[in-house]
Amino acid sequence: MATPLISSKLPNVGTTIFTVMSQLAVEYRAINLAQGFPDFPCSERLIEYAERAMRDGWNQYAPMPGMKSLREKLSAKTETLYGRCYNPDTEITITPGGTAALFSAISAVVGAGDEVIVFEPFYDSYIPVIELAGGVALRSKLRFPEYRIDWDEVRTLVSSRTKLIILNTPHNPTGTVWSADDMLALQAIVRDTNIIILSDEVYEHIIFDGREHQSVARFPELAERSFIVFSFGKTYHVTGWKVGYCLAPEPLMREFRKVHQFVTFCTNTPAQHAFAGMLDDPMFYTELGSFYQQKRDHFRTLLAASRFELLPSEGSYFQLARYDAISNETDTDFAVRVTKEYGVATIPVSVFYSDATDNKVVRFCFAKTEKTLTNAAEILCKI
Ligand code: PMP
Ligand code: GLN
Repeated sequence: MATPLISSKLPNVGTTIFTVMSQLAVEYRAINLAQGFPDFPCSERLIEYAERAMRDGWNQYAPMPGMKSLREKLSAKTETLYGRCYNPDTEITITPGGTAALFSAISAVVGAGDEVIVFEPFYDSYIPVIELAGGVALRSKLRFPEYRIDWDEVRTLVSSRTKLIILNTPHNPTGTVWSADDMLALQAIVRDTNIIILSDEVYEHIIFDGREHQSVARFPELAERSFIVFSFGKTYHVTGWKVGYCLAPEPLMREFRKVHQFVTFCTNTPAQHAFAGMLDDPMFYTELGSFYQQKRDHFRTLLAASRFELLPSEGSYFQLARYDAISNETDTDFAVRVTKEYGVATIPVSVFYSDATDNKVVRFCFAKTEKTLTNAAEILCKI
């Protein structure tokens, strides 16, 4: 029997750059500053909470929207930090990572022919999910090298066909963050429309130099029309646990849950117990910004002696660097060569663009121990 012929629903999608570069890093024993994940351990307490939950028998399905006490604690946390109260019963859902929350939110509202505005460069999961839903992505490029939003361009992209606008602050891969003025500009654009917002805020606590995270939850007019996505993986140094959550007003969350319950039904139970325990200690996340700021500063200080030109990093755990003083190779060729010849893996920023825009910039992840960063910088200074 021959395999049936299938026409791919995602003909342009291959293996993600994160997988490719991490595999190359293993193959060449390179220091992996490519894929975004910490190389240091998570808190012992988090492991104890998860272990205790498993030993206490919390090993069966959690409620579909997530463990109630966890949703209650998230509601209280959001109100304290951003001044908006989300109802834990109807407006908060725990998901298997931020990625699953993005999938459910986009799938819940985007239909055939609907237009979705995205800011380029973007996190790689947005476009495939829009396309699976039959939607059409309209891209607005962040202005290089500051990577700021071109609001005039955004206004020209908005039409009666616009269903959704996706934003991400702090931003992967550029490390830029939205100001309150950016939020107000967006608010003015969507006022009196039916446009929905999807705000990817997985790096909410990783923000530097005294800046405050401008969650859409702080802006009532925006919050009324927004899904907001978060990730425990980023906040608690456990990207492999894959737990996140979504906040949205009830009418949006109702539609979100219709998808969520058939993507996964519910999220890992012991992990939810563990995060509920961790949320009793707000210091963990209120100090995360300074924890990562030290790493950023350490890495930047060491690289000051290199031929890389470092762009500002205002948030997230990513540092962009221009390498045009070193080479005129494409960023992908450069990243692959540096991995193979020098032993440091990075991500070429062109992969975050649909048209592979190559500004000769690579992304380093500094969610690493001081020793890893020191060793990597020593090598990078020789290039
Ligand atoms: N959005 C952005 C911008 C990210 O960088 C990531 C992490 N790769 C995610 C969403 C997904 O988060 P999670 O690992 O919890 O699925
Ligand atoms: N968010 C991480 C990054 O940008 C990786 C996520 C993934 O591997 N899909 O590096």
